[in-house]
Amino acid sequence: MRIGIGYDIHRLVEDRKLILGGVEIPYVKGLLGYSDGDVLLHAISDALLGALALGDIGQHFPNTDTQYKDISSIKILNKAMEMVRGRGYAINNLDTMIIAEEPKIHPFRSRMIGVLADIMGAAKGDISIKATTNEEVGSLGRGDAIAAYAVVTLAKKRCEVKHGYLP
Ligand code: MG
Repeated sequence: MRIGIGYDIHRLVEDRKLILGGVEIPYVKGLLGYSDGDVLLHAISDALLGALALGDIGQHFPNTDTQYKDISSIKILNKAMEMVRGRGYAINNLDTMIIAEEPKIHPFRSRMIGVLADIMGAAKGDISIKATTNEEVGSLGRGDAIAAYAVVTLAKKRCEVKHGYLP
C-alpha cells in the first residue's frame, strides 16, 4: 500500500470555461492555467505521482512544453495513471476536497466521480469528492481562485504479477 497527497490552486478569471473534475460547469468565470486549469485533476495527478515517489506534475508536464498548452487535464491524469499501472498498482481509494466560494459543486459531483472512476479504473464507491467554501476568508473566500486537495492510496495488483506487471 502506498499513499500520496496533492494540492493545487488556480485563479478564476473571465473568458475561460470552468472545468473541474473533467466536467464543464456553467459559471461566469473559469480557471486560468497553461492547460485547462482543472485544479482537481491536477491535485489528483500530483497525489498519484507522490504515492509512486516520482516527483510532481510540474516536472512531468512542464508549462514550458507547448504540447501541454490548453490541453485537457484528463490527459495529465491519464499519463499519471499509466505510471501507476506500469508499476503494478491500482487505485485503492481516493479522497478529495474542492475549496470554492462559488459555484456550488454538489450538482456536478456524481458526474465528476463517473469521469474519475472511468479514467482511474476504480469503483465509484472508492472515489470521494467533497467541497467546502472558505467562509469568505482570503483570496479563496473572495472567489479569486479555486483550490483542491487529494489523498490517494494505491494497492499492489498481486493478481497481475504473473502477467509481468511487476519488475
Ligand atoms: Mg495546476
